[in-house]
Parts: sequence; structure tokens; C-alpha cells
Amino acid sequence: MGYRLASRKTKKDNTLVTIGDVVVGGEQLTVIAGPCAVENRDRYIQIALQLKKIGVQMLRGGAFKPRTSPYAFQGLAEEGLDILAEARRITGLPVVTEVMDTRDVETVARYADVIQIGSRNMQNFVLLKEVGRVSKPVLLKRGLSATIEEWLMAAEYVMAEGNSQVIMCERGIRTFETHTRNTLDISAIPAIKHLSHLPVIADPSHAAGKWGMVSPLSKAAVAAGADGLLIEVHPCPDEALCDGGQSLTPANFADLINEIVPVADAVGRKCQYQTKSLVKKSVI
Ligand code: PEP
Ligand code: MN
Repeated sequence: MGYRLASRKTKKDNTLVTIGDVVVGGEQLTVIAGPCAVENRDRYIQIALQLKKIGVQMLRGGAFKPRTSPYAFQGLAEEGLDILAEARRITGLPVVTEVMDTRDVETVARYADVIQIGSRNMQNFVLLKEVGRVSKPVLLKRGLSATIEEWLMAAEYVMAEGNSQVIMCERGIRTFETHTRNTLDISAIPAIKHLSHLPVIADPSHAAGKWGMVSPLSKAAVAAGADGLLIEVHPCPDEALCDGGQSLTPANFADLINEIVPVADAVGRKCQYQTKSLVKKSVI
């Protein structure tokens, strides 16, 4: 077998990844949200405060963006990391952001609470080893065309270097279907749970590529046992520099939260929102 440390056979109990007050992989569902990219300071701080009010546990935002076109917005790099750090200071929420290059791992690890390895880098073994040597949790997206075994093997690369804090993230795979950007592989969620002790979350935004499908796919992922959700939210999706079509407005995101609460409840997951009255759009 190619993966040992990541295997359920090696470790029976679920791994809990702890980031400050947030525990990924426990009873509580973890909701991570934010725009695809950090675009500018004011816009990011604005959305971070809105997301905090809605009750998300972690913020996301890319400072290094893997774009298909070299002419598309590539991210603000270190300036973006600075903005993420400011958002953390203001909201108290931890931040997750992507690293694409081994030369940036040290810098990103200094700013981020969780380091994201994007889909396109899931088999960048040098990068995986590098993030395996830092003491920050790693959010490992499934490769666009990766099998579940290849994805677990990628986690093994990180763990073999000494970093056992890995969160798996199903974000949709390439299939023959063109209606959606990718196909969310719901079956990967119970498969990872069966094969591994690592937590697994779902990213329905990059799977669907269409904002209107994000809520139904979120409900499906939670029902299938996902430990959390990674959702793209933008204050004004029409103006987004990246992935606007799949981004929810804060109001639509509040609706999504209200819809996943009963689903989480039905499958025995705690959702912090259950203790509050439903998120009211007026608060955002
Ligand atoms: C992202 O999270 O913005 C991203 C680029 O994701 P993926 O690597 O899954 O395409
Ligand atoms: Mn994106």
C-alpha cells in the first residue's frame, strides 16, 4: 500500500485538525468562506466583517492565484497576505490561503493559519514535501483528474515529512460533463472517511462553477458526511476579478447557512448556527 500514515488501518480514530478555537473533523461542521482572491484591502475587510457576522469559522482568499491564462489577475502576492493578516486581526478568525511555489512556503506559513495546496499542485511533490516541513495545517485540494488513491498519496507526502495536520478537500473532478465546471464527487467523502482518518471537507463552489448550485451541493456534501465546507463569497460577484460566476453574495450565503443547519442536524453534526436564531439578512 502506498499510503500508511494517512490510512485508517494505521490510526482508527478520526484526526482532529485544530486551528485556534476551530476544530476540523469533530462533531462541529466547519464553514470556511471568502472571495476567490484578495483583490484589495477595503473590499476584503468588508467581506471579512460580513462573514464574521454570519458566523463563519475561517476566512479564505488567494494571494497567489493559479490562473489558466497568464494574462488574468495573478493575485496580490505578499500585499494580499498582509491584508489577510489584517482581516485576522480585525475579526479574530483564522485564514486559509494557497501557496503555489516552494519559494513562497516560508512567507505564506508566516501569515496563514492554514496553507492551501490547490488542485493543480496536488501532485507537485516538491511543494508537498515543503509544506510537510512546516508546522501549519495543510488544506489539500483534490487534483482535477486525481483518483482517491492518488489524492491520499499526496497527503502521505505531507505527512511523511512530519506534518500530520492535513485536511482533504473535494472540489470536483474533470468528467465529460460540461454543464458544470467540474463534477462534485460526493462519493469521495465517504470513501475518504472509510480509507483514512483525515478530515474531509467539500468545495462546491469550484465544483459547480455556478453560484445557484452551491447551496444544493453543500447540502449533499454535509449529508454525505463532510466535516466542513469551503465556499466562495464576494460582496459583488459581478465585479470579481476571479470566479465571480460561482461566488455567492453575502445574502445568498446567509441563505445557504440557513439551509444547511437542518441537514447537519439530520446527520448528527453540530452546526454552531443551531444555537442562534437563523441568520438574518439584516445583520449583514
Ligand atoms: C481556489 O480555492 O480558489 C482554487 C484555485 O481552487 P482549486 O485549486 O480547487 O481550483
Ligand atoms: Mn476560486
